[in-house]
Amino acid sequence: MTLSFRPGLERVTAYTPGRAAPVGATGRSIKLSSNENPFPPLPSVVERLREVLPEAVSRYPDLAAPAVTEALAERFAVTPSNIVLGSGSVEVASQFIHALTAPGDEVVFAWRSFEAYPILTRVAGAVPVAVPLDAEGRHDLDAMAAAVTERTRLVFVCNPNNPTGTVVTTTALEAFLARMPDRVLVVLDEAYAQFDRDPASPSGPALFARHPNLAVLHTFSKAYGLAGLRIGYAVAAAEVAGELRKTALPFAVTRLAQEAALASLDSVAQAELDARVQRIVEERERLAAGLAARGVRVATSQANFLWWAGGDRSEVLGDALHASGIAARVFPGEGVRLTVGSPEENDAVLAAVGTMGPVALDPTGVGA
Ligand SMILES: *Cc1c(COP(=O)(O)O)cnc(C)c1O
Repeated sequence: MTLSFRPGLERVTAYTPGRAAPVGATGRSIKLSSNENPFPPLPSVVERLREVLPEAVSRYPDLAAPAVTEALAERFAVTPSNIVLGSGSVEVASQFIHALTAPGDEVVFAWRSFEAYPILTRVAGAVPVAVPLDAEGRHDLDAMAAAVTERTRLVFVCNPNNPTGTVVTTTALEAFLARMPDRVLVVLDEAYAQFDRDPASPSGPALFARHPNLAVLHTFSKAYGLAGLRIGYAVAAAEVAGELRKTALPFAVTRLAQEAALASLDSVAQAELDARVQRIVEERERLAAGLAARGVRVATSQANFLWWAGGDRSEVLGDALHASGIAARVFPGEGVRLTVGSPEENDAVLAAVGTMGPVALDPTGVGA
């Protein structure tokens, strides 16, 4: 064959998912590599899925997803015209890029951040502009503002940042928004917002009310525990949302995803989910303290994962966890991202790290 492929695709590496959990020496297998929720789905959500299952499988979903769209609009005090759903917020991120960029236009984001940003950008024919995080693993908003050019159409700000767990402040973000030229849309990716306990952090939907050049990206995958059903959404100006919808894959948001999201937004379900999020936050603090006591000083995290800036020791930690049946996300030469699991899973992490000894992890500390 002599097929020719889209120029630029040669520079794209397909998204690498979190490693599957290995089986450790103890026979245990724990996946802490994809920031998933350790809890099973809520009984009320499972019940709703069972009810709609037969029809949901044989029929196309309602493309407009009116019930969940209205529930979200009500929650954020916007209109349904401000809500755009997608097959996970990754698909909605892709809709932003396709709707706003022409080939050669630039998309600015921090790095290291969510690995989908550069992939989606290149696949759309746009040019990724990755701006290094500061020494503390935080967005360098001044450097990002300076990286905006005539070709910039879109800026992603991931808050809390994946994989470092750091946050920007409301004040810093508002100053950043004020510096953006009119042709630039800022997308605040709040995939982990529910885990954020820093009072200085922005609330995307509240900021959206004051800044039309901001859009907010949310997902049901993390705090809501629906990663496998694929549903996320944006809150954006109606003008932006309308263009996004044109770039969506038809019927990408299944009826099952819509029903599960809707059942999760019910007030009783929401209270149960909030309690689970609180437990994960408490486990995060316990795990961080336990790791620090064992020589692994992780960065302060406002998400459901921890980041150890281990530099060239990162693989040592990743390998030790792997040998104990625990999959973490290792960025060789940079760091390790570890999802906060159930209490038992976190205990297994602490036990595995405890057997390593502090010397293996260099107590003089490249850790943040
Ligand atoms: C997990 C994650 C998402 C959500 O992806 P879905 O497609 O909604 O599952 C979006 N942004 C970031 C930064 C993430 O880490």
